[in-house]
Amino acid sequence: MLLEVEGLCVNYGRIEAIRDITFSVEQGSMVTLIGANGAGKTTTLKTLSGLRKVRAGAVRFQGKDITHMASHERVPLGISQSPEGRRIFPGMSVVENLDMGAYSRADRAKTRTADLERVFGLFPRLHERRDQLAGTMSGGEQQMLAIGRALMSRPTLLLLDEPSMGLAPKLIQQIFSIIIDIREQGTTVLLVEQNAAQALKIADRAYILETGEVVRTGTGRELAADDSVRAAYLGGD
Ligand code: ATP
Repeated sequence: MLLEVEGLCVNYGRIEAIRDITFSVEQGSMVTLIGANGAGKTTTLKTLSGLRKVRAGAVRFQGKDITHMASHERVPLGISQSPEGRRIFPGMSVVENLDMGAYSRADRAKTRTADLERVFGLFPRLHERRDQLAGTMSGGEQQMLAIGRALMSRPTLLLLDEPSMGLAPKLIQQIFSIIIDIREQGTTVLLVEQNAAQALKIADRAYILETGEVVRTGTGRELAADDSVRAAYLGGD
């Protein structure tokens, strides 16, 4: 297993945002966490990035206990997140934003060309707009940039928080197909989504979160075919 999360509890003050969550991510796989607003998906990803303190439980990455490791130490280990709401640097160009993603790499000068090529290969639009200020790009383009920036650190595990949020249906299809490409290139993906239908379609394994707890798990296909899951998360269609 690449990532093992065991009995994880995270609070915001007295609010228990996640309670006793256990799940794992196999190397090379695509795993999705789905659930309604407030279920704890973002908190889980932030905790894996080292941005939230763990109250109880453990996180292991490649067998190493990283439960209390600082955020900046996790990127060199191979964990990189594309955050919800994108959070690109609006006053910087596309290329400058991408360079920020490689900031923690000691060997970045050597690998920069190859890393930029990989990102531009996945997102030709970013290549076309390489000198444009990120803040002037469309929502879809900013989303692509956020994912591209996360890839610049060559992560083993890519954490994606709601990559389809706020995008038009055609762009959503495009983003999901790029996520499949990223995984096919060998990057393990942990995807948080409210678009459960799409996420289940592409995930090897899915975990359903409800009010901070894992309530179901199965393969993407199993859950997509399950009547109660369909009724609750797929609009019953
Ligand atoms: P969304 O899709 O809306 O982001 P989510 O599943 O990602 O939902 P979280 O954002 O992880 O859910 O929130 C889990 C719980 O923690 C919610 O009850 C939320 O209100 C609470 N919470 C999140 N951030 C904070 C915060 N900064 N302070 C206090 N409570 C918070």
